[in-house]
Amino acid sequence: MNFTTDCLEQCSPRIGTLSGFKRFPGTKFTTPLLLMYTRRGSIPHLTKEVQRLTGVNIQQQLLSISLPSIISMTEVIKQYNSFVEFVKMQEHLTFLTIQDPNELTNKGFQQTDSISVWSRHGRHTLNAEEYMNIVDVIKPDIYLALCDGDTDCHSTAKHVQKSVRRSENLLKQCLARHNNSETLKFSGILGAVEGGYEINERERCINYLKNHDSLLGYVIDGLHRNGPKTATIKYEEIEKILQHTINMLPKEKLRVTMGCWNPTVVLDLIGLGVDVFDSSYVSLMTDQLKAITFPLESNLQQNDETPPEISLNEKRYAEDFSPISPDCICLTCKLHTKAYIHHLCQAKELLAHVLLMIHNTHHYIQFFEAIRTNLTNGTFPKFRKNIQTRYQLIL
Ligand SMILES: [Zn+2]
Repeated sequence: MNFTTDCLEQCSPRIGTLSGFKRFPGTKFTTPLLLMYTRRGSIPHLTKEVQRLTGVNIQQQLLSISLPSIISMTEVIKQYNSFVEFVKMQEHLTFLTIQDPNELTNKGFQQTDSISVWSRHGRHTLNAEEYMNIVDVIKPDIYLALCDGDTDCHSTAKHVQKSVRRSENLLKQCLARHNNSETLKFSGILGAVEGGYEINERERCINYLKNHDSLLGYVIDGLHRNGPKTATIKYEEIEKILQHTINMLPKEKLRVTMGCWNPTVVLDLIGLGVDVFDSSYVSLMTDQLKAITFPLESNLQQNDETPPEISLNEKRYAEDFSPISPDCICLTCKLHTKAYIHHLCQAKELLAHVLLMIHNTHHYIQFFEAIRTNLTNGTFPKFRKNIQTRYQLIL
């Protein structure tokens, strides 16, 4: 598997190509790339059949799957050749991460040589060997080496130090197994850049990672504990540590960051040269009965004051017979009005989530397409400013 990028400047937006997938040799993904967030093998609220009907699933996707959402299925998956075969998503590629970006990770349950993940059935403790046994069963196309990302801006220096040491040790064991594995020889493995908000620990971690050339890239981890709070983090809170981290990372390797960052932070992270994100923000908005409506054009009408997000639960939409976004071509906007979705929200109908998820997923995929187009055309700064200005009004 290969990642290439033409931009070798540090801390600047860049376009890259991810290719060389064994299962689909002709497939190429252009970065900045959106991983489709899944839970227990599907995009929340959307069955595979609904995805097809909506046009959301027209292109091949790189699906983000997390250990907590699939760990209880491992024994059953063994009866199939891989995770994608079990969930009948063979046409897609998969990217396995340790924690679920949409769920708050419980803190303080790590042990010397093992990591805790939480599923519906409670806590699961995994050492490197147990984790790699699961990876062997799942057979992801890309996966993150086991790591301890249990840090945030409140973590003590000692706690951060332990997470870095533990992650180094786990990476060493995962790589030893990966490099000798027949099953995983075509999968890409990523290393976690840990170190919380401690510059010295980030440096130590990156210096260690740089010794391992077989890594496809890095997941910049340990900035938050996942879940809805990630969407409230402001760029100013992470700017310094991220700039320092990215400045130290080898320019030619893939850079990933997981979590439901709000779109203004996503744009800033792209401005720093982060290549891959996940779509858990879409699920978060849908769970809150919100529709994403920020503009996707780089040239806006001066009098256009569309809010970046709207809450369909609000009474003001009870008699609004227009679609969520007049220019959107998703199934929800083609067939339904805000008034109808408001009624479904009020009645607590599951269909409200389905219709919102269709629109929000469609909008977010278009958002990433627009990011790539604007980067290619040199209009990214204007595009970024248009969206960030809208959000300044509500954040
Ligand atoms: Zn729509």
